[in-house]
Amino acid sequence: MALLQISEPGQAPDPHQRRIAVGIDLGTTHSLLAAVRHGVAECLPDAQGRLLLPSAVRYLEGGRRQIGAEALAAQAEDPENTIVSVKRFMGRKLADVAGTEKLPYRFVDGAGMLAIETREGAKTPVEVSAEILAALRQRAEDSFDTDEIFGAVITVPAYFDDAQRQATKDAAQLAGLNVLRLISEPTAAAVAYGLDHGSEGLYAVYDLGGGTFDISLLRLTQGVFEVVATGGDAALGGDDIDHAVADWALAQAGVAATSAHDKRAALVAARSAKETLSSADSTLWQARLAGGPVEVPLTRSQLETLARPLIDRTLAAVRKVLRDAKLTRNEVQGVVMVGGSTRMPAVRAAVQELFGAEWPGQVLTNVNPDEVVAIGAAIQANALAGNAKDGELLLLDVIALSLGLETMGGLVERVIERNTTLPVAKAQEFTTFKDGQTAMAIHVLQGERDLVSECRSLARFELRGIPPMVAGAARIRVTFQVDADGLLQVSARELTSGVEAAVTVKPSYGLGDEQIAQMLKDSFVHAEGDMAARKLREAQVEAERMVLATQAALAADGALLSEAERAELQALISACQTAAQGADAEAVEAAVKALAEGTEAFAAARMNQGIRQALAGRRLEEV
Ligand code: ADP
Ligand code: MG
Repeated sequence: MALLQISEPGQAPDPHQRRIAVGIDLGTTHSLLAAVRHGVAECLPDAQGRLLLPSAVRYLEGGRRQIGAEALAAQAEDPENTIVSVKRFMGRKLADVAGTEKLPYRFVDGAGMLAIETREGAKTPVEVSAEILAALRQRAEDSFDTDEIFGAVITVPAYFDDAQRQATKDAAQLAGLNVLRLISEPTAAAVAYGLDHGSEGLYAVYDLGGGTFDISLLRLTQGVFEVVATGGDAALGGDDIDHAVADWALAQAGVAATSAHDKRAALVAARSAKETLSSADSTLWQARLAGGPVEVPLTRSQLETLARPLIDRTLAAVRKVLRDAKLTRNEVQGVVMVGGSTRMPAVRAAVQELFGAEWPGQVLTNVNPDEVVAIGAAIQANALAGNAKDGELLLLDVIALSLGLETMGGLVERVIERNTTLPVAKAQEFTTFKDGQTAMAIHVLQGERDLVSECRSLARFELRGIPPMVAGAARIRVTFQVDADGLLQVSARELTSGVEAAVTVKPSYGLGDEQIAQMLKDSFVHAEGDMAARKLREAQVEAERMVLATQAALAADGALLSEAERAELQALISACQTAAQGADAEAVEAAVKALAEGTEAFAAARMNQGIRQALAGRRLEEV
C-alpha cells in the first residue's frame, strides 16, 4: 500500500510546494513589491534593478502603455495622457473631484464612477491602478521565474472607506492578482518592525510621503493591531518642500520660471538637492532653464529653515490626533517612521523633539522608510499563504466607524461598534411596528452619532413578503458581515417565514480621513445632546406604538367598554399624541404611562373574553 504524506496544518509541506505570496504597497507616488525569500522579507527589483515603481501610467496610440519611470519622464510633454497620483481618485465619483481644476485631466462620468479621458478613451482609476499592479505582478513572476503567484496582500491607507477598498480589490482582480487581504499601511509598517511580537501597547506611525502626511495610532493587544485614530494632511509632503526650495533658489538666482518647463525643471532640481542633503551638508541646486543653466549653492541648514514650517504642520497634526484620542505622548511606546521624506534628518529630529528627552519610547527608523510598508505586507502575505512558522499570528484590521441600522424615530441602532476587529459577523433581531406590516425598509448607516441625519447613509434595501402578523410578532434577523478586507454585507431574514433579502455595500462616494476624524469628533462633542435626542425619539416612538395598539384594540373590542370608559381612553390617546408632538421626553413618557395604566382594565376584559371564547364549546378535560 502506498503511504500518503501528511503535513502539519499550517506548515508548508516541503520547500518546493511553498506558495509564492507577495506584498504590494500601492502608493500615491511610488509602488513597491516585496516577498519573503529564504525566510527574509525583501523588496524585489525590476530588470534594471529599480525597487520603486513610480505610480504613473501613460496611454499611447494603439493601446500601448508606458508604466513607471518611462511614463513619468513623459509627463511634461504629454500631461493629459499620463496619469499620476491616481490613488487620490480611487472609489471617487465625478462630484468628488470638484475643485481640482489645476490638474491637466479631463474627468468624465464612467458608469457612476469617475474616469479620466485619454487618447485611448476614458480610463477609471481602477483600470489605471490595475496597470501598475499588473506591472508588479509581472515583476514577481520574473523574480520567481513562475507564472503561479498564489496571492497578494495590498496595503491601503487606514482611512480608506468601503468604496476605496473595493476599488483597490477590483484593480487587483483586473490585474490578475488574487487578493489575500487588504491591510492598512500603518499596520503593515508596524509588522515590518516586528512590533506584533513585541510588547503590547500604543504605537504611532508617522508617514510623510511625497504629497500626503498620515499619522496613525495603533494599539497592539494579543497580537492584533487596532487603528485607534488617524489624522494628517492629504495635501502636505515632500513635494511642498520641493516647492519651497525651488522658489527660494529662483529668487536667489534672480530668475523667474514662468513656463511649465522651467517650473518643472526648478522642482526636479529642488527635489534632487533636497534628497542629497539628507546625507551631505551642502550641495548645488542645478536647473537647466530655457534661458540657460542656473546654479545655486544650498546647505542643509538652509534647507531645514525652508522646510521648518512644513515639518511644524506635521507636528501639529500629531499633537491633534493624540489630543482627539485623549492620549498623552508618554503613552506612545514607539513611533514608526514611514515615507521617503522621513529620511530627512530634520524630520527625525523634530519627531524626537516633540516627544521630548524624557520620553521612554523610541523613534524607529532602521527599516528603509520607502520599503517598510511593502515589507510588512510581504510578511502578512507569507503568513496568509500558510508559509509562516508556528506561532506567527495573523494580524487583523478594525473598522474605523460603527455600522448600524435605522430604527423607528430616525434613530441609529449600532450593530457593529467601531474598532471591532475584522472579519466580523453580528446579528440583531428586529420586529415590525404595525399590525399586518409586510415589508420592512432596511437602512444601513455608518457613524458614531445616534441620529440618522448625523450619520452617513451606506445603503437601503427592503425586506418584502413578511406574512401579516400583529405588531411585534415578526422576528427579523439582520446580519452584518464585514470581511477581512473591510467590505460589508447586510442580510435580513424573517425567521418564521424564511423570507430573505441582502445587499453588499459599495458606498457611492468616499470619505476622506478628515471627514472620518470630523465624524468621530462630532460624536464626542454631541454625545450628550444625542443622548437627550435619543431619549425623546424613543419616547415618541413608544407613544406612537401605544396609540396604535390602543386604537386597534378599541376598533376590535370597543363594545366591552362603556361610553364613558371609551371617552376616557380617547382622552388619554389624545394626551399621548399631544405630548409626542412636543420636545419634552419626560412629558411623553408620563403620557405613555398614563395611557398604559388607563388601558389595564380594558386589556384584562379583552383577555377574559379571549379565554371565554377559547373555552366555549370545549369540555374541561380538553383544556
Ligand atoms: P508616497 O507614499 O506618497 O508615494 P514616498 O514615501 O515614496 O511617497 O515618498 C516620496 C517623497 O520622499 C518625495 O517627496 C521624495 O523627494 C522624498 N524623498 C525620497 N528620498 C529622500 C531623501 N533621501 N531625503 C529626503 N526626501 C526624500
Ligand atoms: Mg506611502
